[in-house]
Amino acid sequence: MQISADKVVLIHYTLTNNAGEVLDSSAESGEPLAYLHGHFNIVPGLESELEGLSAGAKKKVVVAPEDGYGLPSDDAIHKVPQSEFPAEIPREVGLQIFAEGPGGQHFPLWIKAVDDAFITVDGNHPLAGETLNFDVEVVEVRDASEEEIAHGHVHGPGGHEH
Ligand code: ZN
Repeated sequence: MQISADKVVLIHYTLTNNAGEVLDSSAESGEPLAYLHGHFNIVPGLESELEGLSAGAKKKVVVAPEDGYGLPSDDAIHKVPQSEFPAEIPREVGLQIFAEGPGGQHFPLWIKAVDDAFITVDGNHPLAGETLNFDVEVVEVRDASEEEIAHGHVHGPGGHEH
């Protein structure tokens, strides 16, 4: 079975930056990553290169920042007065938090700096601007269930448990 839209794909992967540092790897958990193809579960530059592969295939994929986590933008960095920042959120540099947009959608932010007056939050992904070097092995390709397609993600091992 080949990878195409609405297939569940299990991959082992290692992600390195251009300096050769390992940024992320499925070996950390020992379990392959499960994603639903065609549903924006993984970065677009990787997803398009996996299209058409079958179980057992191995591929090295280089993803430019534009097709990965985007280019960093100063517009995504905001200084929030301490008094306006929710009291229950720890003031911890590096912490990922979620803000609610005007349409009720949630988007991730990272706390970049903290001082007595302000919390600086950054909507740029930590890997924005990085070229992503993926070393991928396709472990399994299967049809998704109707429920998985409706939810837009994989259920069970390597995916969502709910
Ligand atoms: Zn679900």
